[in-house]
Amino acid sequence: MRDKFLVFGSPLIEKDEIKEVDAALRSGWIGTGPKVAKFEQMFREYIGSQYSIALSSCTAALHLSMIVAGIGHGDEVITTPLTFCATANAIIHAGAKPVFADVVRDTMNIDPNEIEKKITTKTKAIIPVHFAGRPCNMQAILELAKKYRLKVISDCAHAIETEYQNQKVGQLGDIATFSFYVTKNLVTGEGGMITTDNREYADKIKMYALHGMDKDAWKRYSDEGFKHYKVIFPGFKYNMTDLQAALGIHQLQKLERRYKRRQAIWDTYNYKLKDLPLQSPAPIQKNNRHALHLYTVLLDLQAVGADRDSVLNALIRENIGTGIHYIALHLHPYYRNTYHYKYGDFPNAEYISERTISLPLSAKLTDKDVEDVISAVKTVLL
Ligand SMILES: *Cc1c(COP(=O)(O)O)cnc(C)c1O
Repeated sequence: MRDKFLVFGSPLIEKDEIKEVDAALRSGWIGTGPKVAKFEQMFREYIGSQYSIALSSCTAALHLSMIVAGIGHGDEVITTPLTFCATANAIIHAGAKPVFADVVRDTMNIDPNEIEKKITTKTKAIIPVHFAGRPCNMQAILELAKKYRLKVISDCAHAIETEYQNQKVGQLGDIATFSFYVTKNLVTGEGGMITTDNREYADKIKMYALHGMDKDAWKRYSDEGFKHYKVIFPGFKYNMTDLQAALGIHQLQKLERRYKRRQAIWDTYNYKLKDLPLQSPAPIQKNNRHALHLYTVLLDLQAVGADRDSVLNALIRENIGTGIHYIALHLHPYYRNTYHYKYGDFPNAEYISERTISLPLSAKLTDKDVEDVISAVKTVLL
């Protein structure tokens, strides 16, 4: 057994990132400034979108997306129950109701057939979440959106590198939102991004993220002459800082290299865990690219003879930290009590909820760490 606890999702921070943060501190621009502008430009070039706005989190990005898409009281937004609570909470904060549609068991992504069953006259948008980094069935989702005139806000928190039919998933739909939280594929401590090709959305998001003040208010103390700002909308405080962007600029340059490292770990897991009582992630479809954010397996509970939480705790005793993605949202007290969801509503999401466990998958892992994870899983399951 390894002697030091392996923290799940620990980020890899290297010297050049630290140097850039140091430079930002010394420059005096520690708020939103030139590094944010540079990071935004690099990010939209990577995704291939027209516009990009850096924000304080993906949660903020989802919230602003709802607002600029005109979603509010009385509206419904369809999303997956197998996601982080922020996806549903953003809908609620905009005044609308989150309506869940069940997932496909293999891909763990929202099922377009289930989406169509949930569409009503109140439905305004769909939020597909590319679970673990695997693209949703975007063709079907975009067709539904067209047919019923719905907006598509793509929650790409797991999916920076994800491609759907050879296209970055962040280019698809009306708006895409990204997370740079500590466990994600690109980290800025806390941080998020919106990409879109819609100029009006981009302008509004930029303004709403900074109190609703008119354009370039962040330059108001520069040497270009004093400018009065005007408040156009009661906005939010959702801007990214140069300290965060300093990390992002370097993280983005290393994204593909780190992807390759995760790919190697992913392949090792697939190979070494294949005879155990668990189901590894489904194969990746041709012309699609999985961002390899989470390596989630489904335990064969009957063969293991224990529930998932016992396995998780046994792994902790082996000094291996894991993650649970996710306990389906409709089973949490708030959504249950408020929207009267109950056990049995989304059988596939529930099936996954009860069996899922995410093994460490980070470019920071050494070969020894990966071996430790595999031997701990074997010890616990065999
Ligand atoms: C992490 C995550 C979020 C929230 O991201 P933050 O940047 O922490 O706000 C939203 N949706 C999904 C699917 C996530 O995994």
